[in-house]
Amino acid sequence: MATRQKSEDPVRHGGYCVPRKCSVTDSSTLEATLALETGDAPAPRRSPGASDAAMMTRCIELSRIAADKGEYPFGTVIAFDGEIVAEGINTTLRDADVTRHAEVIALSDAQKRLGREGLRRCTLYSNIEPCAMCAYCIREAWISRVVYALASPVMGGHSKWNILRDDGLSKRIPEVFGAVPEVVSGVLLHEAQQAWRDWSPFAWQMIKLRGLLTAPSAQDNDIEVQPARSLSLRHYLHILFMRGRQSRNRIARSATLLDNF
Ligand SMILES: [Zn+2]
Repeated sequence: MATRQKSEDPVRHGGYCVPRKCSVTDSSTLEATLALETGDAPAPRRSPGASDAAMMTRCIELSRIAADKGEYPFGTVIAFDGEIVAEGINTTLRDADVTRHAEVIALSDAQKRLGREGLRRCTLYSNIEPCAMCAYCIREAWISRVVYALASPVMGGHSKWNILRDDGLSKRIPEVFGAVPEVVSGVLLHEAQQAWRDWSPFAWQMIKLRGLLTAPSAQDNDIEVQPARSLSLRHYLHILFMRGRQSRNRIARSATLLDNF
């Protein structure tokens, strides 16, 4: 069961707040997991559960905090093994910076904490389908699972541009882009809608009329799951190369320390 932090204003922490750090799985477990993950077959499917609902509830809470701050109501959580690693709200208006989307803010913080190899084992939650810019960052960060409530058929990086599920990125440039993540849509759809309606009933009516934010599937209450693709052999080799480089850097740092002793 997910541990959800109590309601807290993320803006006081520069756009995000972090309840606790998580520990990354030990290397032997990771090796075993990697051995199972190579190949082109779909990765094991992780069905939506109570943890997803708890994380999405926090996203919706963050979207309300964003609205209270005069921002558009977007909220993102990044979680590892049921614990929140980082979270963010949009700060595009406050910072006068169109790139300050909730997902990008959370990804930036999570990568500093866990590195890309850690991010590969994380889930990114958002009350709205990530846009094309954020979807691109998600793929480059190697996030392996994305969960959202409302679809964004005009701007979305999944339903409109298919960046989240594009095989070509990871097959042609595996050292940059992670494998296709699992995508789960429609989680707490009505709660996410209500937050937007409460933010501005008029704006919500306009959004509905223009079809900007909708239910992800024809069945309003359906949660749709699209399975991840497994890491390719080239991904696996790249991870080994990165680990080798990290080890060499650690040895070099130790040698420098000894020299200075
Ligand atoms: Zn975005």
